[in-house]
Amino acid sequence: MLSLKCVKKVYQSQGTEQQIAALSGVSLSFADRGMVFILGKSGCGKSTFLNIIGGLDVPTEGEVFVDGISMKTFSPKEYDSYRNSYVGFVFQDFAIIDEFTVGQNVALALELQGKTAGEGEIDNVLSSLGLDGFADRKPSTLSGGQKQRVAIGRALVKKPRMILADEPTGSLDFESGRSVLSLLKKISSDRLVVVVSHDRDAAEEFGDRIIEFKDGAVINDRSLRKSQEEKSSEESNHLELLSSRLPISKGLKLGLSSVKRKPLRLISTILLSSISLSLFGLLSTLVL
Ligand code: ADP
Ligand code: MG
Repeated sequence: MLSLKCVKKVYQSQGTEQQIAALSGVSLSFADRGMVFILGKSGCGKSTFLNIIGGLDVPTEGEVFVDGISMKTFSPKEYDSYRNSYVGFVFQDFAIIDEFTVGQNVALALELQGKTAGEGEIDNVLSSLGLDGFADRKPSTLSGGQKQRVAIGRALVKKPRMILADEPTGSLDFESGRSVLSLLKKISSDRLVVVVSHDRDAAEEFGDRIIEFKDGAVINDRSLRKSQEEKSSEESNHLELLSSRLPISKGLKLGLSSVKRKPLRLISTILLSSISLSLFGLLSTLVL
């Protein structure tokens, strides 16, 4: 669903002529599901990478493809829609609003999409994160691990196709960190979760794939176990994107691009539907 082709990002260092190559030609592709760790020392380009695939930043060179469509072709509105519906972000410092209750923090993600939470929707999300009865609490009364769960809830309530987490356990103690990671692992059974981390042990324990960066380049890329995605990639439902707020033309293109990849399935669906429709027609003629 997501791939990068020779992505480079160069920053102009402020006040000098110096240029910093944060990413120097990254080509990767990602499955629709599973937990991928991005490892590497501070300054090697991990956050830059995450921001680019999340549509928060654009490459200086190269391209990112979403369901086969280059993000270069996205209008500002489509970028917005991509960030809002397709991607859920989780950050090291939780980025939750202290003045809002836990429930309001989660609901905000939906409101930004122009939606309202359905009856019990927020409570269900909180309960799936082990935060039953937390909806009316203020974030200041929560532990770091609980705050990060709220942040995950805020990402999850949008039902995004992927979750991007930048050092999500960086501010947590070992135990809370592990429990946040096992939560993300659970979530990765039906979506892509990309976790930026320093923690090699955690990556080995939780990752389906570990990608290592050094000086803006991928120096190692390993699959540890068969992710759900590899087991059922053929079944992935690309049409889900149509339900996001991407304009119909783009949604259609994305839908068609998946059809192109599965011509046999399309033909058999059309054949089966027309056969059943004709049978239905025949039957109703006979009955009437
Ligand atoms: P990491 O997340 O692995 O620590 P980053 O992606 O944040 O690394 O940064 C990669 C390199 O790009 C670093 O040298 C950093 O200083 C530089 N960099 C990141 N963002 C900017 C920016 N907005 N302006 C200038 N340099 C930046
Ligand atoms: Mg970083």
